[in-house]
Amino acid sequence: MNTPILIDLPSTGQRLAIARAAGWKNWEDHVATWRATLPAQKKHSQPKKSAPTGVIPPGPWYRVAWLLLSDDERHRLTHRSRSGKVLPPTTENSPVQALSAPSKMPGYSWAITAGRTCPGAVYGEGAICSACYAGGADHGNTANANNKTRGYISRTAVRRALLVREHFTRILCTTPAGRVTFADHMAAWIARNTDPADPYFRIHDSGDFWGPSYIDAWASIIARCPTITFWAPTRSWHIALSKGGRWADSFAALNALPNATIRPSALFIGDDAPQIDGFAAGSGVKTTDWNCPASTTHNECRSCRACWDTETAIYYHAH
Ligand code: SF4
Repeated sequence: MNTPILIDLPSTGQRLAIARAAGWKNWEDHVATWRATLPAQKKHSQPKKSAPTGVIPPGPWYRVAWLLLSDDERHRLTHRSRSGKVLPPTTENSPVQALSAPSKMPGYSWAITAGRTCPGAVYGEGAICSACYAGGADHGNTANANNKTRGYISRTAVRRALLVREHFTRILCTTPAGRVTFADHMAAWIARNTDPADPYFRIHDSGDFWGPSYIDAWASIIARCPTITFWAPTRSWHIALSKGGRWADSFAALNALPNATIRPSALFIGDDAPQIDGFAAGSGVKTTDWNCPASTTHNECRSCRACWDTETAIYYHAH
């Protein structure tokens, strides 16, 4: 019985042969010997990004964000002057970076507070939003008190940054002139930070389209950056379907742009990706038969850009 036991390793595509004659009690030694013959495997092979340039300019959004933090968070972020005087963070001593740099994806992205800016979010048993890494009770999502933020997004400084960016949009988007100012800033930041050789930008790695005026502002930003392809997942699609009117008109104008991939997201785990007229193919979350490869590549997109392709429905692995 000297036939080796063959084990296929999907992560490397290699086949491990363990000699039965060696006996199972020595199998660790055989694996160690075999491992030593492998080329070094890098855990992360996606190039590291430098910090994006551009900060949210001074304005009332900093003050509003400060007021929305809890007492505990305010205490943690408080600076002290040399004389011991207590100073809240201002734009001067703690400006907020305009864009975020998700480690999973190519390029940079735009993120605002989840929950508070997600009118299409649905919570409850099996709802994808109930497992959102970015949304929780501490983000204004009081409908789902058990939904805690996870990882970097739960940090107080990150929460402040998301609130500053959120109110940068909310305050500016109340007037046509403000929308132009918002679009001017965003188009400049995105153009400056996007690699022309890999021109992809993600809108909302946290948050969603919170209103028609904000959607209009994004249509203006995307139109100003014709060489960059934008992708935004959204659950606000069902608000547009139910309300129609300005919601539907604003999404129609956004969807008409050739470099915008606006994906309607499924509401519940296991649901099929929504197919909504005018929108790109949808996305969903499944426990089986997902097609996003990131769960097999240390949560990195690497060379995949499928999310920016309007034709392909994307399913992420539920985790
Ligand atoms: S489908 Fe591709 S581009 Fe989209 S998240 Fe997964 S790995 Fe990234």
